[in-house]
Amino acid sequence: MSLTRTTCPYCGVGCGVLAGSDGTIKGDPDHPANFGRLCSKGAALGDTIDLEGRLLHPKVNGADTDWDTALDLVTEKFSAAIAEHGPESVAFYASGQLLTEDYYVANKLMKGFIGAANIDTNSRLCMASSVAGHKRAFGTDTVPGTYADLEQADLVVLVGSNLAWCHPVLYQRIAAAKEARPDMRIVNVDPRHTATTDLADMHLQIAPDGDIALFNGLLAYLVEVGAVDLAYVQEHVHGCFDAVKSAQLGDPLNSGLGAGDLAAFYQLWTQTKKVVTIYSQGVNQSSCGTDKVNAILNCHLATGRIGRPGMGPFSVTGQPNAMGGREVGGLANMLANHLELDNADHQHLVQDFWDSPTICTKPGLKAVDLFEACARGQIKALWVMSTNPAVSMPDSNGVAAAIAAVPFVVTSDIMKKTDTNNLAHVLLPATGWGEKDGTVTNSERRISRQRAFLPSPGIARPDWDIISDVATRMGFGDAFAYKKPADIFAEYVALDGAASHIARDLDLSIFADADYAKLIPTQWPQDDHRFFADGRFYHPDGKARMIAVIAPILTKPRFTLNTGRNRDQWHTMMRTGKSARLSAHLAEPFVEINPADAVELGAAAGALIEVESVYGRTFLRALITPGVAKGQLFAPMHWTRQRTTNGTVNSVAAPLTDPVSGQPALKSNAVIAQVYKAKWCGFLACINEPTPQTPYAAISPTKTGWQVELAGSKMPVDWEAEARRLCGQTGGDASTQTDATIGSTRIAITQDGKITALFFASPTPVVVSRTAIIDMIGTDTAPLAALAGRSPSDRPDAGATVCACFNVGRNTLLAAVTNGAHSVAALGDATCAGTNCGSCKPELTALLAQAQIPMAAE
Ligand code: SF4
Repeated sequence: MSLTRTTCPYCGVGCGVLAGSDGTIKGDPDHPANFGRLCSKGAALGDTIDLEGRLLHPKVNGADTDWDTALDLVTEKFSAAIAEHGPESVAFYASGQLLTEDYYVANKLMKGFIGAANIDTNSRLCMASSVAGHKRAFGTDTVPGTYADLEQADLVVLVGSNLAWCHPVLYQRIAAAKEARPDMRIVNVDPRHTATTDLADMHLQIAPDGDIALFNGLLAYLVEVGAVDLAYVQEHVHGCFDAVKSAQLGDPLNSGLGAGDLAAFYQLWTQTKKVVTIYSQGVNQSSCGTDKVNAILNCHLATGRIGRPGMGPFSVTGQPNAMGGREVGGLANMLANHLELDNADHQHLVQDFWDSPTICTKPGLKAVDLFEACARGQIKALWVMSTNPAVSMPDSNGVAAAIAAVPFVVTSDIMKKTDTNNLAHVLLPATGWGEKDGTVTNSERRISRQRAFLPSPGIARPDWDIISDVATRMGFGDAFAYKKPADIFAEYVALDGAASHIARDLDLSIFADADYAKLIPTQWPQDDHRFFADGRFYHPDGKARMIAVIAPILTKPRFTLNTGRNRDQWHTMMRTGKSARLSAHLAEPFVEINPADAVELGAAAGALIEVESVYGRTFLRALITPGVAKGQLFAPMHWTRQRTTNGTVNSVAAPLTDPVSGQPALKSNAVIAQVYKAKWCGFLACINEPTPQTPYAAISPTKTGWQVELAGSKMPVDWEAEARRLCGQTGGDASTQTDATIGSTRIAITQDGKITALFFASPTPVVVSRTAIIDMIGTDTAPLAALAGRSPSDRPDAGATVCACFNVGRNTLLAAVTNGAHSVAALGDATCAGTNCGSCKPELTALLAQAQIPMAAE
């Protein structure tokens, strides 16, 4: 099997992958981002390339059609809206999942040919605050760091970043560096204890949005102890230092940390020259995200700890091509190629280069504003590309209603059924990862090729081709006559060349003569270039700016909901949710809650918590842990309405945004919480995909079919009928066990001697071994034995999955610990856990720590 050299389509680490059409997936040992490593999501890419659920033909109002019919309709509706209501009546909502070539073409059509800047993207939710902070400080959106800096640093400060789960290969690189250099220090600044915290020497459990108080306090400390590099500041920072210094830096205790922790951190930072500060969504997704970024940058600028090996600020992007989108200008407040939207010279240059009839001259609608404009009727035609805003946006129910209110909605997607596709008039089948060619840029500015290794399914087409076709039908064919993605990349590089006289950080000249087919992963402006090494920045005077930022006054709602991500899922699970092994890690939406809060709410382990805000309500399984502070909740955002009833987390998130960047504040939502008093709880494992209608349900694929966690508000009259309805099986034999004393019911359905469904219901959360029950589906286990809800004695229950690569469960690991495996390496030797992608190593470490706690009761 020949393997194709391509790039992982998930996070912003941008790992190189060797992929085969038979589903073979290996880390690319020659890719400088990962040197052969992959995380659990990347390693399971082969599970996601089947055609199950794929959109293979264009659809208009639910019916299959041909491309001409669909694209003529898209063209007609967009053209009519523009003619009747002006260019600002239409909008594109794009995605960090698009390739650079797709992004470039979409941006060109909207800004140069339609003449509005109404193209925004889910990258607004990811790193817009970093972009805005960089531009304020540096004059450009420059990420100065490289991954090698993380390994060379003596102190790595992780702020609002659960790297172990969200950028696992970077985490692995840092963990390996720390193992090689045990003196390396790691500080984790996060309101909660995460898998990343276990690697840290110091966990600063700040209050939500306490970051500015923390870093302003650090700046004040640097001034106080004379640690500011005054020569550097004088030479390279515009004369704002005194203003920043004398501004109200505030009381660092407002960060929520104690004086001892603050002093320890400030001393460590001050005494360590080589400091890298990594930050991601915990910083960016905030109503003061841009100020947080600048509070961090201020400290690096004040000490000159920037532009040198092993030091500097480092914003890591969430999505695979968020950086590529930034480069081509695929945001409503950018033009193209790091050129400015509000600069007349830049406008003329781009319009001349594109030879376009118009050019946008003012910013368009940023994501939250865009959907608000949909709701109030401003947007007459909307095109959503490769993303699922009806789930991922804050106030997701309100956004779904806003999309439904738009007179004409088109989506281009790889999947047939998504929460957003369900609201669209036209669905356009796009080719997916593995089927399309292009480039992506990772968090360290490295451009890599994504290469097709599978044929296009059905009549799906690449996004750039679909967009270009619509542009052509709108009358702009000469400017969109691309034959292949290489043509677009060449134009993108040529535009950069045409703008080379304008002082910007973006410099693509290294790609001018590149052989696109053979392009190797390459950083711009060139490998190992160090931005700001000469102390020159991109403001007109060549100096950086320190920005006076004031810490917000923190409010204390009864509960603050922090939203985030799971180790083994990606965004709205359209691809990772196909993989049974990835879904086995955490199979239903959950909420982390502090033990004291659980007691106060009367929530036992496994209870369902009803989390509510003025925007919506969601039911989440209680995961009681001291890892979240009292008054705080944490819930992952992945579950869609396809996979859960009432479990979509962003339905309760508020559409509040940072005033500078427009990025939503997804991490600190004021909510109330209470125990959901279900009349019954249930667990179902079955062969057929179930379609539950209960007030709470969460569905996941398993290696033998499907599993569903359930809760109902009314006791069914007939349990067998309920079980059959849930699993969609009218035939076969049913065996039922009831226990009237505790009100539980257990039902096994068999067909041709094989178990096809097992259903367990009780008034309280069902206590049975999920893995044992799932394993029995499709087997000839005797129904009464299956209803025992535990593994047969000859087949030990592996327990909940910890290692997704080798499907190693918690019970298997605990048995290995009992048998003497007392280190992560020993657990790997005994069970293989952690020996492939390594993403579960933090959980293995935590399990070892827990196993050594004497737990007499257990
Ligand atoms: Fe993909 Fe994982 Fe690498 Fe991110 S860290 S690019 S998800 S393999």
